Amino acid sequence: MTVPHNIYIHVPYCISKCNYCAFFSRACAAPDWDAYANKTINEIDHWTNILGRFDVPTIFFGGGTPSLMPVKVFEKIIQKLCQNFNVDTNCEITLESNPGTIDNDKLNAFTNAGVNRLSVGVQSFDDKKLSFLGRRHSARDAINLLAAAERCGIRYSADFIYGLPGDDVSDIIKLCNEINNIALKHCSMYELTLEPGTPFAKKNLDMPSNEKMADMYMAIEKTLNLPRYEVSNYAVTGSECKHNLNVWDGEPYIGIGRGAAGRVLINNVWYEQLGDGVQFEKMRNATRATERVITGMRTVRGVYLDTMVKKIINMDYIYKNPELVHITDSGRIAATKRGMLVLDDVVLNITRTENAT
Ligand code: SF4
Repeated sequence: MTVPHNIYIHVPYCISKCNYCAFFSRACAAPDWDAYANKTINEIDHWTNILGRFDVPTIFFGGGTPSLMPVKVFEKIIQKLCQNFNVDTNCEITLESNPGTIDNDKLNAFTNAGVNRLSVGVQSFDDKKLSFLGRRHSARDAINLLAAAERCGIRYSADFIYGLPGDDVSDIIKLCNEINNIALKHCSMYELTLEPGTPFAKKNLDMPSNEKMADMYMAIEKTLNLPRYEVSNYAVTGSECKHNLNVWDGEPYIGIGRGAAGRVLINNVWYEQLGDGVQFEKMRNATRATERVITGMRTVRGVYLDTMVKKIINMDYIYKNPELVHITDSGRIAATKRGMLVLDDVVLNITRTENAT
């Protein structure tokens, strides 16, 4: 019997490309949505042939800009998923969205079709910063979309980017206070990074120093009314993104659509998807365990210390460095607050892949 798999569906279209964006997406004024729906449905059938019928704890439509998708296309895909797999009423169904691409009526229609969590790309509450980032919407558009999600009664979250050229600790404190004022229950705070191939990478931007970035990062935790549950994610307890938590915890997931990653578990053997939506290859247990340590350690609850993870862990390091890393009451290895600040080093020191197969 196939174990439950989470499902990620990539929607690779945007109205235009933002200046910092290295995601797999392309600017397209009028995507061929019928072709997109057919291709997605074929991939769902492909995975049904391989895995059979299984339980689906979460479905995440990411992008790109999934909110550009006509609701009819979304309905077609959801219907197909419900037909082929076990998708019950508890399934978390997230739609990533950008302000300006979805109005009240469209949001209501998505909600009626099954979306129960909206992730909004707000990025900033400052119109000048939005324009610098190459965003096509205003802060007001973003606030209106968050308010519409609240009226719909669904869970919602907002993404923000900080650490723009000229940003200081006072900017991040201002942003966190604005987030507190609208009482968000979940937000993601991403440091601006200059990704190769993006318009920003070609500019000679005067980025904040590493020290300043670290000060801003620490100011978030001090100012925001939401506890951190992952390096870049903050939520009221119980409002975390289940999909991401499951993936970070090492649960299997299927990626549908070009550019989508996936980790599939068949008869206790792990497979890595190759990014074209259909092909996959066997993974070494040690490689999969290392991935689980890397993503799990980014969460505050840590990585579960099961047999597979135990094989690659340097327990000596954990016992000798209790100020950085510890074993929790629920049998997980987690970084301490201090350890979180030097997480890359901690992960490097607790993993030893040479012993595992
Ligand atoms: S809307 Fe999102 S995916 Fe699209 S270009 Fe901007 S950052 Fe990239």
